Amino acid sequence: MAGLNFNNKRVLVLGWARSGKAATERLVQLGAKVTVANQKPIPADDSVKKLVAKGVVFASNDQVEQFRDDFDYLVKNPGIPYDHPIVAAATAAGIPVLTEVAVALSTFTGRLIAVTGSNGKTTTTTLISQMLSTAGIDVTTAGNIGTPVCEVVADLGSKDTLLLELSSFQLLGIPELAPDIAVITNIFANHLDYHKTRENYVAAKFRVTKDQRPNQYLVLNAAGKDSPDFAEKTQAQVVEFSRTQPSYFADCKDGQLVVDQEPVMALKDIKLVGPHNLENILAAVAAAKLAGASLAAMAQVLKTFGGVKHRLEYLFTDHGVAFYNDSKATDIEATQTALDSFDQPTIWLAGGLDRGDDLNRLLPNMKHVKGVIAFGQTQQKVVALAREAHLPVIAVRDVRQAAPIAVKIAEPGDVVLLSPAAASWDQYDNFEVRGQIYTEALSEVLNREQ
Ligand code: ADP
Repeated sequence: MAGLNFNNKRVLVLGWARSGKAATERLVQLGAKVTVANQKPIPADDSVKKLVAKGVVFASNDQVEQFRDDFDYLVKNPGIPYDHPIVAAATAAGIPVLTEVAVALSTFTGRLIAVTGSNGKTTTTTLISQMLSTAGIDVTTAGNIGTPVCEVVADLGSKDTLLLELSSFQLLGIPELAPDIAVITNIFANHLDYHKTRENYVAAKFRVTKDQRPNQYLVLNAAGKDSPDFAEKTQAQVVEFSRTQPSYFADCKDGQLVVDQEPVMALKDIKLVGPHNLENILAAVAAAKLAGASLAAMAQVLKTFGGVKHRLEYLFTDHGVAFYNDSKATDIEATQTALDSFDQPTIWLAGGLDRGDDLNRLLPNMKHVKGVIAFGQTQQKVVALAREAHLPVIAVRDVRQAAPIAVKIAEPGDVVLLSPAAASWDQYDNFEVRGQIYTEALSEVLNREQ
Protein backbone atom coordinates (compact mmCIF):
# COMPACT_ATOMS: atom_id res chain seq x y z
CA MET A 1 0.00 0.00 0.00
CA ALA A 2 1.38 3.36 -0.92
CA GLY A 3 2.11 6.01 1.63
CA LEU A 4 3.20 4.08 4.69
CA ASN A 5 6.91 3.50 5.21
CA PHE A 6 8.15 2.51 8.63
CA ASN A 7 11.89 2.37 8.00
CA ASN A 8 13.64 4.45 10.67
CA LYS A 9 10.29 5.80 11.81
CA ARG A 10 9.40 6.17 15.50
CA VAL A 11 6.30 4.13 16.18
CA LEU A 12 4.33 3.85 19.39
CA VAL A 13 2.41 0.58 19.74
CA LEU A 14 -0.45 0.92 22.21
CA GLY A 15 -1.80 -2.32 23.65
CA TRP A 16 0.12 -5.55 24.13
CA ALA A 17 -2.45 -8.11 22.96
CA ARG A 18 -1.72 -10.58 20.15
CA SER A 19 -2.12 -7.93 17.44
CA GLY A 20 0.18 -5.50 19.27
CA LYS A 21 2.87 -8.17 19.52
CA ALA A 22 2.52 -9.09 15.86
CA ALA A 23 2.67 -5.41 14.84
CA THR A 24 5.80 -4.87 16.95
CA GLU A 25 7.59 -7.88 15.42
CA ARG A 26 6.68 -6.72 11.93
CA LEU A 27 7.62 -3.08 12.58
CA VAL A 28 11.04 -4.22 13.81
CA GLN A 29 11.47 -6.23 10.58
CA LEU A 30 10.53 -3.10 8.64
CA GLY A 31 13.22 -1.05 10.39
CA ALA A 32 11.04 1.00 12.75
CA LYS A 33 12.05 2.25 16.19
CA VAL A 34 9.30 0.89 18.35
CA THR A 35 8.04 1.83 21.80
CA VAL A 36 5.33 -0.34 23.33
CA ALA A 37 2.88 0.92 25.94
CA ASN A 38 0.30 -1.10 27.78
CA GLN A 39 -2.13 -0.33 30.55
CA LYS A 40 -0.93 -3.27 32.65
CA PRO A 41 2.76 -4.04 33.20
CA ILE A 42 4.17 -6.33 30.50
CA PRO A 43 5.87 -9.45 31.90
CA ALA A 44 9.46 -9.74 30.64
CA ASP A 45 9.09 -13.13 28.96
CA ASP A 46 11.41 -14.49 26.26
CA SER A 47 9.66 -12.74 23.38
CA VAL A 48 9.83 -9.41 25.20
CA LYS A 49 13.53 -9.94 25.99
CA LYS A 50 14.24 -10.68 22.32
CA LEU A 51 12.48 -7.50 21.27
CA VAL A 52 14.34 -5.45 23.88
CA ALA A 53 17.59 -6.85 22.47
CA LYS A 54 16.45 -5.52 19.09
CA GLY A 55 15.94 -2.04 20.54
CA VAL A 56 12.23 -2.08 21.37
CA VAL A 57 11.40 0.07 24.40
CA PHE A 58 8.66 -1.07 26.78
CA ALA A 59 7.05 1.80 28.66
CA SER A 60 4.08 2.29 30.91
CA ASN A 61 1.18 4.45 29.72
CA ASP A 62 2.25 7.11 32.25
CA GLN A 63 5.71 7.35 30.76
CA VAL A 64 4.27 7.61 27.29
CA GLU A 65 2.08 10.52 28.37
CA GLN A 66 5.33 12.49 28.79
CA PHE A 67 6.57 12.05 25.24
CA ARG A 68 3.47 11.27 23.30
CA ASP A 69 4.18 13.79 20.51
CA ASP A 70 7.56 12.30 19.70
CA PHE A 71 6.31 9.67 17.28
CA ASP A 72 5.73 9.42 13.56
CA TYR A 73 2.95 6.83 13.93
CA LEU A 74 0.70 5.42 16.62
CA VAL A 75 -0.42 1.80 16.17
CA LYS A 76 -3.25 1.05 18.56
CA ASN A 77 -5.23 -2.01 19.45
CA PRO A 78 -8.56 -1.77 17.57
CA GLY A 79 -10.51 -1.90 20.84
CA ILE A 80 -8.90 1.25 22.28
CA PRO A 81 -11.25 4.17 21.68
CA TYR A 82 -10.23 7.41 20.01
CA ASP A 83 -10.93 9.43 23.16
CA HIS A 84 -8.20 7.52 25.04
CA PRO A 85 -5.81 10.30 26.21
CA ILE A 86 -2.79 9.04 24.25
CA VAL A 87 -4.81 8.47 21.07
CA ALA A 88 -6.52 11.85 21.41
CA ALA A 89 -3.15 13.56 21.91
CA ALA A 90 -1.67 11.83 18.86
CA THR A 91 -4.67 12.83 16.76
CA ALA A 92 -4.40 16.43 17.96
CA ALA A 93 -0.69 16.43 17.06
CA GLY A 94 -1.49 15.16 13.55
CA ILE A 95 0.20 11.79 14.11
CA PRO A 96 -1.46 9.08 12.00
CA VAL A 97 -3.33 6.59 14.20
CA LEU A 98 -3.15 3.11 12.66
CA THR A 99 -4.20 -0.43 13.43
CA GLU A 100 -2.03 -3.49 12.95
CA VAL A 101 -3.64 -4.27 9.57
CA ALA A 102 -2.25 -1.03 8.09
CA VAL A 103 1.27 -2.04 9.13
CA ALA A 104 0.80 -5.45 7.51
CA LEU A 105 -0.66 -4.10 4.27
CA SER A 106 2.10 -1.52 3.83
CA THR A 107 4.23 -4.16 2.09
CA PHE A 108 1.55 -6.40 0.59
CA THR A 109 1.50 -6.46 -3.22
CA GLY A 110 -0.74 -9.48 -3.94
CA ARG A 111 -4.48 -9.86 -4.40
CA LEU A 112 -6.60 -8.62 -1.50
CA ILE A 113 -10.12 -9.69 -0.57
CA ALA A 114 -11.63 -7.84 2.42
CA VAL A 115 -14.86 -8.77 4.21
CA THR A 116 -16.64 -6.44 6.59
CA GLY A 117 -20.20 -5.86 7.83
CA SER A 118 -22.14 -5.76 11.07
CA ASN A 119 -22.91 -9.48 11.21
CA GLY A 120 -21.82 -12.57 9.34
CA LYS A 121 -18.22 -11.52 8.78
CA THR A 122 -16.62 -14.66 10.19
CA THR A 123 -19.08 -17.00 8.51
CA THR A 124 -18.71 -15.30 5.12
CA THR A 125 -14.92 -15.11 5.39
CA THR A 126 -14.72 -18.79 6.34
CA LEU A 127 -16.94 -19.76 3.40
CA ILE A 128 -14.87 -17.76 0.90
CA SER A 129 -11.67 -19.22 2.34
CA GLN A 130 -12.94 -22.81 2.01
CA MET A 131 -14.36 -22.21 -1.48
CA LEU A 132 -11.07 -20.83 -2.77
CA SER A 133 -9.00 -23.59 -1.16
CA THR A 134 -11.35 -26.26 -2.48
CA ALA A 135 -11.01 -24.71 -5.94
CA GLY A 136 -7.23 -25.02 -5.67
CA ILE A 137 -6.62 -21.31 -5.18
CA ASP A 138 -4.02 -20.69 -2.46
CA VAL A 139 -5.45 -18.28 0.07
CA THR A 140 -4.16 -16.90 3.36
CA THR A 141 -6.94 -15.90 5.76
CA ALA A 142 -6.39 -13.44 8.61
CA GLY A 143 -7.65 -10.35 10.42
CA ASN A 144 -10.57 -10.12 12.82
CA ILE A 145 -11.15 -13.86 12.34
CA GLY A 146 -8.24 -14.55 14.71
CA THR A 147 -4.80 -14.32 13.14
CA PRO A 148 -3.21 -10.85 13.10
CA VAL A 149 -2.31 -9.92 9.52
CA CYS A 150 1.22 -9.02 10.61
CA GLU A 151 1.77 -12.68 11.55
CA VAL A 152 1.24 -13.91 7.99
CA VAL A 153 2.17 -11.10 5.64
CA ALA A 154 5.96 -11.45 5.57
CA ASP A 155 5.72 -14.65 3.52
CA LEU A 156 3.32 -13.31 0.88
CA GLY A 157 4.29 -12.08 -2.59
CA SER A 158 2.58 -10.50 -5.56
CA LYS A 159 1.02 -13.79 -6.72
CA ASP A 160 -0.66 -14.51 -3.38
CA THR A 161 -4.24 -14.00 -2.30
CA LEU A 162 -4.87 -12.53 1.15
CA LEU A 163 -8.41 -12.77 2.55
CA LEU A 164 -9.16 -10.50 5.50
CA GLU A 165 -12.07 -10.20 7.89
CA LEU A 166 -12.06 -6.56 9.02
CA SER A 167 -14.04 -4.99 11.83
CA SER A 168 -15.03 -1.34 11.65
CA PHE A 169 -12.54 -0.71 14.47
CA GLN A 170 -9.74 -2.10 12.30
CA LEU A 171 -10.95 -0.21 9.23
CA LEU A 172 -10.69 3.13 11.02
CA GLY A 173 -6.95 2.62 11.43
CA ILE A 174 -6.18 1.84 7.76
CA PRO A 175 -5.62 5.16 5.96
CA GLU A 176 -5.65 3.71 2.46
CA LEU A 177 -7.32 0.48 1.44
CA ALA A 178 -8.11 -0.76 -2.05
CA PRO A 179 -9.09 -4.42 -1.98
CA ASP A 180 -9.47 -6.17 -5.32
CA ILE A 181 -12.71 -7.56 -3.93
CA ALA A 182 -14.46 -5.88 -0.99
CA VAL A 183 -17.50 -7.50 0.64
CA ILE A 184 -19.99 -5.79 2.95
CA THR A 185 -22.34 -8.42 4.36
CA ASN A 186 -24.82 -5.94 5.86
CA ILE A 187 -24.87 -2.82 7.99
CA PHE A 188 -26.95 -2.66 11.13
CA ALA A 189 -26.80 0.28 13.49
CA ASN A 190 -24.80 -1.46 16.21
CA HIS A 191 -21.54 -0.74 18.01
CA LEU A 192 -22.82 2.76 18.70
CA ASP A 193 -21.08 2.88 22.08
CA TYR A 194 -17.73 3.10 20.29
CA HIS A 195 -18.62 5.03 17.16
CA LYS A 196 -21.02 7.44 18.91
CA THR A 197 -23.26 8.00 15.88
CA ARG A 198 -24.71 5.90 13.11
CA GLU A 199 -23.05 8.18 10.54
CA ASN A 200 -19.63 7.44 12.04
CA TYR A 201 -20.33 3.73 11.98
CA VAL A 202 -21.52 3.72 8.37
CA ALA A 203 -18.55 5.90 7.40
CA ALA A 204 -16.20 3.39 9.04
CA LYS A 205 -17.68 0.60 6.92
CA PHE A 206 -17.39 2.71 3.76
CA ARG A 207 -13.64 2.78 4.28
CA VAL A 208 -13.42 -0.76 2.89
CA THR A 209 -14.23 0.66 -0.55
CA LYS A 210 -13.26 4.33 -0.43
CA ASP A 211 -9.94 3.88 -2.28
CA GLN A 212 -11.10 1.12 -4.62
CA ARG A 213 -10.54 1.64 -8.34
CA PRO A 214 -12.82 0.87 -11.31
CA ASN A 215 -11.14 -2.47 -12.02
CA GLN A 216 -11.99 -3.69 -8.51
CA TYR A 217 -15.23 -5.07 -7.08
CA LEU A 218 -17.56 -4.22 -4.23
CA VAL A 219 -20.00 -6.97 -3.18
CA LEU A 220 -23.10 -5.46 -1.54
CA ASN A 221 -26.32 -6.73 -0.01
CA ALA A 222 -29.11 -5.51 -2.32
CA ALA A 223 -31.34 -5.21 0.74
CA GLY A 224 -28.82 -2.89 2.42
CA LYS A 225 -31.17 -0.19 3.62
CA ASP A 226 -28.53 1.14 6.01
CA SER A 227 -25.99 1.86 3.28
CA PRO A 228 -28.14 3.18 0.44
CA ASP A 229 -25.53 5.38 -1.20
CA PHE A 230 -22.54 3.02 -1.17
CA ALA A 231 -23.25 1.80 -4.69
CA GLU A 232 -23.22 5.37 -6.01
CA LYS A 233 -20.27 6.59 -3.98
CA THR A 234 -17.81 3.78 -4.74
CA GLN A 235 -15.43 3.80 -7.72
CA ALA A 236 -15.48 -0.01 -7.82
CA GLN A 237 -17.79 -2.21 -9.91
CA VAL A 238 -20.77 -3.03 -7.73
CA VAL A 239 -21.94 -6.61 -7.55
CA GLU A 240 -25.07 -7.27 -5.50
CA PHE A 241 -26.63 -10.29 -3.86
CA SER A 242 -30.21 -10.82 -2.75
CA ARG A 243 -31.94 -13.57 -0.81
CA THR A 244 -35.45 -12.50 -1.74
CA GLN A 245 -35.30 -11.13 -5.28
CA PRO A 246 -33.93 -12.67 -8.46
CA SER A 247 -31.82 -10.85 -11.06
CA TYR A 248 -28.79 -10.03 -8.97
CA PHE A 249 -25.23 -11.33 -9.38
CA ALA A 250 -25.92 -13.87 -6.63
CA ASP A 251 -29.51 -14.81 -5.84
CA CYS A 252 -32.01 -17.65 -5.45
CA LYS A 253 -34.17 -18.85 -8.35
CA ASP A 254 -36.49 -21.87 -8.58
CA GLY A 255 -35.02 -23.48 -5.49
CA GLN A 256 -31.46 -23.04 -6.76
CA LEU A 257 -28.54 -20.97 -5.53
CA VAL A 258 -27.47 -18.93 -8.56
CA VAL A 259 -24.33 -16.91 -9.23
CA ASP A 260 -23.67 -14.95 -12.40
CA GLN A 261 -26.74 -16.61 -14.02
CA GLU A 262 -25.49 -20.14 -13.37
CA PRO A 263 -27.00 -22.56 -10.84
CA VAL A 264 -24.59 -23.63 -8.12
CA MET A 265 -26.79 -26.18 -6.33
CA ALA A 266 -30.25 -26.82 -4.90
CA LEU A 267 -30.95 -24.69 -1.83
CA LYS A 268 -32.23 -27.77 0.02
CA ASP A 269 -28.77 -29.37 -0.15
CA ILE A 270 -27.10 -26.50 1.70
CA LYS A 271 -26.06 -27.60 5.17
CA LEU A 272 -26.01 -24.16 6.87
CA VAL A 273 -29.39 -23.18 8.28
CA GLY A 274 -31.16 -19.85 8.59
CA PRO A 275 -32.05 -16.99 6.25
CA HIS A 276 -29.19 -14.93 7.68
CA ASN A 277 -26.73 -17.63 6.68
CA LEU A 278 -28.22 -17.74 3.19
CA GLU A 279 -27.23 -14.08 2.88
CA ASN A 280 -23.71 -14.93 4.04
CA ILE A 281 -23.63 -17.74 1.46
CA LEU A 282 -24.75 -15.39 -1.32
CA ALA A 283 -22.04 -12.87 -0.37
CA ALA A 284 -19.48 -15.69 -0.32
CA VAL A 285 -20.38 -17.21 -3.70
CA ALA A 286 -20.33 -13.74 -5.28
CA ALA A 287 -16.82 -13.07 -3.93
CA ALA A 288 -15.59 -16.60 -4.67
CA LYS A 289 -16.88 -16.35 -8.26
CA LEU A 290 -15.09 -13.02 -8.77
CA ALA A 291 -11.93 -14.59 -7.35
CA GLY A 292 -12.11 -17.45 -9.86
CA ALA A 293 -13.49 -20.37 -7.82
CA SER A 294 -15.43 -23.06 -9.69
CA LEU A 295 -19.12 -23.66 -9.04
CA ALA A 296 -18.27 -27.27 -8.15
CA ALA A 297 -15.95 -26.10 -5.38
CA MET A 298 -18.64 -23.79 -3.99
CA ALA A 299 -21.20 -26.59 -3.99
CA GLN A 300 -18.80 -29.00 -2.33
CA VAL A 301 -18.22 -26.59 0.55
CA LEU A 302 -21.90 -25.74 0.97
CA LYS A 303 -22.91 -29.40 1.11
CA THR A 304 -20.58 -30.07 4.04
CA PHE A 305 -19.92 -26.82 5.93
CA GLY A 306 -22.07 -26.86 9.07
CA GLY A 307 -21.15 -23.40 10.34
CA VAL A 308 -18.39 -21.72 12.27
CA LYS A 309 -17.92 -23.25 15.70
CA HIS A 310 -20.47 -22.03 18.30
CA ARG A 311 -22.39 -19.93 15.71
CA LEU A 312 -25.55 -21.86 15.00
CA GLU A 313 -23.14 -24.72 14.39
CA TYR A 314 -24.67 -27.98 13.20
CA LEU A 315 -23.21 -30.72 15.37
CA PHE A 316 -24.81 -33.99 14.25
CA THR A 317 -28.08 -35.83 13.84
CA ASP A 318 -28.72 -38.70 16.21
CA HIS A 319 -31.87 -40.87 16.13
CA GLY A 320 -33.49 -38.27 13.89
CA VAL A 321 -32.74 -35.36 16.24
CA ALA A 322 -30.55 -32.54 14.87
CA PHE A 323 -28.28 -30.92 17.47
CA TYR A 324 -27.02 -27.32 17.17
CA ASN A 325 -24.58 -25.25 19.21
CA ASP A 326 -25.16 -21.47 19.12
CA SER A 327 -23.22 -20.62 22.29
CA LYS A 328 -22.04 -17.39 20.57
CA ALA A 329 -25.62 -16.08 20.86
CA THR A 330 -24.90 -13.85 23.83
CA ASP A 331 -27.71 -11.37 23.22
CA ILE A 332 -31.41 -11.40 22.43
CA GLU A 333 -30.96 -10.53 18.72
CA ALA A 334 -28.66 -13.47 18.06
CA THR A 335 -31.09 -15.90 19.68
CA GLN A 336 -34.00 -14.40 17.75
CA THR A 337 -32.04 -15.11 14.56
CA ALA A 338 -31.35 -18.67 15.70
CA LEU A 339 -34.94 -19.46 16.69
CA ASP A 340 -36.17 -18.05 13.38
CA SER A 341 -33.84 -20.39 11.51
CA PHE A 342 -35.87 -23.54 12.22
CA ASP A 343 -39.37 -24.66 11.37
CA GLN A 344 -38.97 -28.02 13.09
CA PRO A 345 -40.18 -28.55 16.68
CA THR A 346 -37.36 -27.19 18.81
CA ILE A 347 -36.08 -27.95 22.29
CA TRP A 348 -34.43 -24.70 23.29
CA LEU A 349 -31.62 -24.48 25.87
CA ALA A 350 -31.10 -20.97 27.26
CA GLY A 351 -29.68 -18.92 30.11
CA GLY A 352 -26.51 -17.23 31.30
CA LEU A 353 -25.24 -13.92 32.61
CA ASP A 354 -28.06 -11.56 33.62
CA ARG A 355 -27.58 -8.18 31.98
CA GLY A 356 -31.11 -7.10 32.74
CA ASP A 357 -32.40 -7.79 29.21
CA ASP A 358 -36.13 -8.12 28.63
CA LEU A 359 -36.47 -11.76 27.56
CA ASN A 360 -40.11 -11.23 26.55
CA ARG A 361 -38.73 -9.87 23.28
CA LEU A 362 -38.14 -13.53 22.37
CA LEU A 363 -41.82 -14.50 22.61
CA PRO A 364 -42.60 -13.84 18.91
CA ASN A 365 -39.68 -16.06 17.89
CA MET A 366 -40.78 -19.07 19.94
CA LYS A 367 -43.44 -20.39 17.52
CA HIS A 368 -41.61 -23.68 16.91
CA VAL A 369 -40.30 -24.16 20.44
CA LYS A 370 -41.89 -27.21 22.10
CA GLY A 371 -39.88 -27.29 25.30
CA VAL A 372 -37.36 -25.17 27.20
CA ILE A 373 -34.41 -26.04 29.42
CA ALA A 374 -33.23 -23.11 31.57
CA PHE A 375 -29.96 -22.57 33.45
CA GLY A 376 -27.45 -19.99 34.63
CA GLN A 377 -28.08 -16.64 36.22
CA THR A 378 -31.11 -15.93 34.01
CA GLN A 379 -32.61 -19.36 34.74
CA GLN A 380 -35.71 -18.02 36.48
CA LYS A 381 -36.27 -15.40 33.79
CA VAL A 382 -36.18 -18.12 31.13
CA VAL A 383 -38.59 -20.21 33.24
CA ALA A 384 -40.97 -17.24 33.45
CA LEU A 385 -40.69 -16.70 29.68
CA ALA A 386 -41.54 -20.36 28.98
CA ARG A 387 -44.57 -20.17 31.29
CA GLU A 388 -45.69 -17.02 29.52
CA ALA A 389 -45.53 -18.99 26.24
CA HIS A 390 -47.37 -21.96 27.87
CA LEU A 391 -44.41 -24.25 27.22
CA PRO A 392 -43.03 -27.04 29.39
CA VAL A 393 -39.78 -25.97 31.06
CA ILE A 394 -37.10 -27.72 33.10
CA ALA A 395 -34.65 -25.73 35.26
CA VAL A 396 -31.12 -27.14 35.64
CA ARG A 397 -27.79 -25.78 36.82
CA ASP A 398 -25.77 -25.50 33.59
CA VAL A 399 -25.29 -26.79 30.03
CA ARG A 400 -23.70 -30.01 31.23
CA GLN A 401 -26.88 -30.92 33.09
CA ALA A 402 -29.07 -29.65 30.27
CA ALA A 403 -27.56 -31.88 27.56
CA PRO A 404 -28.74 -35.33 28.79
CA ILE A 405 -32.21 -33.97 29.54
CA ALA A 406 -32.49 -32.54 26.02
CA VAL A 407 -31.46 -35.92 24.59
CA LYS A 408 -34.07 -37.66 26.75
CA ILE A 409 -37.03 -35.50 25.79
CA ALA A 410 -36.24 -34.94 22.08
CA GLU A 411 -38.15 -36.98 19.51
CA PRO A 412 -37.20 -37.82 15.91
CA GLY A 413 -37.67 -34.73 13.73
CA ASP A 414 -36.87 -32.33 16.56
CA VAL A 415 -34.07 -29.80 16.77
CA VAL A 416 -32.10 -29.37 19.99
CA LEU A 417 -30.69 -25.86 20.09
CA LEU A 418 -28.35 -24.24 22.61
CA SER A 419 -28.82 -20.51 22.02
CA PRO A 420 -28.43 -18.88 25.43
CA ALA A 421 -29.49 -15.25 24.73
CA ALA A 422 -26.94 -14.35 27.42
CA ALA A 423 -23.20 -14.09 27.91
CA SER A 424 -21.38 -17.01 29.51
CA TRP A 425 -19.43 -15.26 32.27
CA ASP A 426 -21.81 -16.25 35.04
CA GLN A 427 -20.52 -19.84 34.79
CA TYR A 428 -17.77 -20.07 32.15
CA ASP A 429 -14.63 -18.26 30.98
CA ASN A 430 -16.16 -17.55 27.59
CA PHE A 431 -18.80 -18.72 25.10
CA GLU A 432 -16.36 -21.16 23.50
CA VAL A 433 -15.93 -23.07 26.77
CA ARG A 434 -19.72 -23.13 27.26
CA GLY A 435 -20.26 -24.49 23.74
CA GLN A 436 -17.50 -27.04 24.14
CA ILE A 437 -18.87 -28.39 27.44
CA TYR A 438 -22.34 -28.65 25.89
CA THR A 439 -20.97 -30.49 22.84
CA GLU A 440 -18.92 -32.87 24.99
CA ALA A 441 -21.86 -33.59 27.30
CA LEU A 442 -24.04 -34.45 24.28
CA SER A 443 -21.38 -36.70 22.80
CA GLU A 444 -20.96 -38.45 26.14
CA VAL A 445 -24.61 -39.24 26.62
CA LEU A 446 -25.03 -40.28 22.99
CA ASN A 447 -21.84 -42.33 23.03
CA ARG A 448 -20.42 -40.50 20.07
CA GLU A 449 -16.76 -40.22 19.18
CA GLN A 450 -15.53 -36.65 19.41
P1 ADP B 1 -19.42 -11.64 12.87
O1 ADP B 1 -18.09 -12.21 12.52
O2 ADP B 1 -19.77 -10.45 12.01
O3 ADP B 1 -19.62 -11.39 14.34
P2 ADP B 1 -20.52 -14.33 12.62
O4 ADP B 1 -20.42 -14.95 11.27
O5 ADP B 1 -19.53 -14.73 13.65
O6 ADP B 1 -20.53 -12.74 12.45
O7 ADP B 1 -22.00 -14.56 13.20
C1 ADP B 1 -22.29 -14.14 14.53
C2 ADP B 1 -23.79 -14.10 14.75
O8 ADP B 1 -24.36 -13.01 14.01
C3 ADP B 1 -24.55 -15.32 14.28
O9 ADP B 1 -24.60 -16.32 15.29
C4 ADP B 1 -25.93 -14.76 13.99
O10 ADP B 1 -26.67 -14.64 15.19
C5 ADP B 1 -25.64 -13.36 13.48
N1 ADP B 1 -25.55 -13.27 12.01
C6 ADP B 1 -24.63 -13.89 11.21
N2 ADP B 1 -24.82 -13.56 9.93
C7 ADP B 1 -25.86 -12.71 9.89
C8 ADP B 1 -26.53 -12.00 8.84
N3 ADP B 1 -26.14 -12.12 7.57
N4 ADP B 1 -27.58 -11.21 9.18
C9 ADP B 1 -27.96 -11.10 10.46
N5 ADP B 1 -27.38 -11.72 11.50
C10 ADP B 1 -26.35 -12.53 11.24
